[in-house]
Amino acid sequence: MKNTPPTPKEIAITKASLATQALWAGEEQSLVMGATQVPIVYSAAYGYADLDEWLDVALGRKPGHIYSRNTNPTVHAFEEKVRLLEGAEAAAGFSTGMAAISNTLFTLLSPGERIVSVKDTYGGTNKMFTEFLPLINVEVELCNTTDHAQIEAAVRRGCNVLYLETPTNPTLKVIDIARLAAVGHEMGAIVVADNTFATPINQNPLALGVDLVLHSATKFLSGHADVLGGVVCGRPELVSKIYHYREITGAMLDPMAAYLIIRGMKTLYLRVRQQNESALRIARWLQAQPAIAAVYYPGLETHVHHEIAARQMRGFGGVLSFMLGGGYEAVKRVLPRLHFAHRAANLGAVETVVGPPATTSHVECTAEERLALGIPEGLIRYSTGIENPDDLIADLAQALEAA
Ligand SMILES: *Cc1c(COP(=O)(O)O)cnc(C)c1O
Repeated sequence: MKNTPPTPKEIAITKASLATQALWAGEEQSLVMGATQVPIVYSAAYGYADLDEWLDVALGRKPGHIYSRNTNPTVHAFEEKVRLLEGAEAAAGFSTGMAAISNTLFTLLSPGERIVSVKDTYGGTNKMFTEFLPLINVEVELCNTTDHAQIEAAVRRGCNVLYLETPTNPTLKVIDIARLAAVGHEMGAIVVADNTFATPINQNPLALGVDLVLHSATKFLSGHADVLGGVVCGRPELVSKIYHYREITGAMLDPMAAYLIIRGMKTLYLRVRQQNESALRIARWLQAQPAIAAVYYPGLETHVHHEIAARQMRGFGGVLSFMLGGGYEAVKRVLPRLHFAHRAANLGAVETVVGPPATTSHVECTAEERLALGIPEGLIRYSTGIENPDDLIADLAQALEAA
């Protein structure tokens, strides 16, 4: 949608810090009748008494809305908020994170073209690579996530899209975004990054050189585990193509969902700051526990890619994972004992959420596929909430007695 020219207030918001932007960004143009909060606009279409004005809006010559599968004032406010936080020029909202991912991939790739990615992407994304893209004759090469040289070599064999996700799910591997974006661009590829785990508070992939950044807004952006959504941000010429695919295929975000995400995003900075701090404390504590065979968290100095993470991230995120020495049987004993954790297939919420990959990140995969992806069955993904970390550590301590 064409924006109105920025007001002095909107210019001030552009220059403000992330904490301030999370509150104020993107709302101005959608406020009505003195309301201080963005309204939920449930209107399928928008009426114009003046046919010339209607045509100007329809052709994008004037700001405004035509039909809510295309644009909607509540969704627009959400898109603008994420756009500013990611430092992007354009953004498009989606009904889910997977809608953002699938629409982006189907927009960018044509039959006979080639995409390079890694083995550790989100389970649904991995299904796009292994099941759906091959159906339209797109060649997919999935590399070992931590082998930067292998990824570079695969890109150099030809690459239309380089698709990155970092930190990864569920073992928190870290990819050097700037290094791979550079080789992708050398080969003329469009470089895409899934920034769901880091959030724009901790990492801005566009500033590190990628062309498109996308999110599942279901996770940290909304933050309250009560809504699904997605978004993609980048240069207008790329985002408008993806937007066009969305307006035709219809994976538009619902206005009520957009409202809930906007509301959640008001506290994004506070939540993520606390989750960064708590996750690091919990990861350090877990490392010292005898029942724990391994802890995966990019903030730990012992993490294989801590140095890359420290360079490209401002915080290390709220998600960690750890492996119980006793395998899946120990997972089945420990998880039910946790009082302050939902056992659910979600992450990035205000409450702590835990689960094994078999029922969470990689529910789409068979046990054999998980094994091939190097995901141990004794693994627990731990998405730190905003509870007091002392309570979370005490809760883990009592639960681990069953390990
Ligand atoms: C959850 C998730 C997705 C998919 O998002 P949905 O909103 O569930 O469709 C994509 N990428 C990552 C990293 C995720 O965690």
